[in-house]
Amino acid sequence: MGYGINTDIQTNKIWGSVISFYVQVTTNRNNFDSALRAWGATLKPKIFFSEIAQPGIAEVTVIIHNTTMVTGSSSWRSPDGLNGRDPGRGGTLNLKDTDRVGTIIHEIGHMLGLCHEQDRKNDARATSVRGNYLFGHEVAKRSWPNCKNYGSFNPNSIMLYGSGYEDKTAPDQDDVRTVFEINKK
Ligand SMILES: [Zn+2]
Repeated sequence: MGYGINTDIQTNKIWGSVISFYVQVTTNRNNFDSALRAWGATLKPKIFFSEIAQPGIAEVTVIIHNTTMVTGSSSWRSPDGLNGRDPGRGGTLNLKDTDRVGTIIHEIGHMLGLCHEQDRKNDARATSVRGNYLFGHEVAKRSWPNCKNYGSFNPNSIMLYGSGYEDKTAPDQDDVRTVFEINKK
């Protein structure tokens, strides 16, 4: 099914029913809006997004950088400052106006509590080679105590490196199920 924050030790990272966010944008937010709609359509009965017009109040700050001004990857930055390592409630979504919808769906996945699928613990399928990418390359380096397995490995996860998630326009059903499981919805 998926891989996400360990809510046994991370109870403060569980979202309520409403996720408030503030958007700071210099150029356009079209792909962010598409990605948010894609998640919103699947989470609808249980989790809602609510945009707040003033900065400093919302639980999530979304910054959509102008690509001509900024280099580096898009990321979910939790308070620990590590990309994708401490997903869940609270933090900043750093995006670029040229990000593809699939990339933004992936980053919102971190926001919702999902970790990288290739980092799953003790899962042979997550450490096999797919395409040109070695799944589990990060497993070999270190483990992520904040995350745990939910069900079995999902090769179609929006959170899986090397799966072509950048081309997708919606999260996988199991990604949604994992978000509900993590947030106890
Ligand atoms: Zn990621």
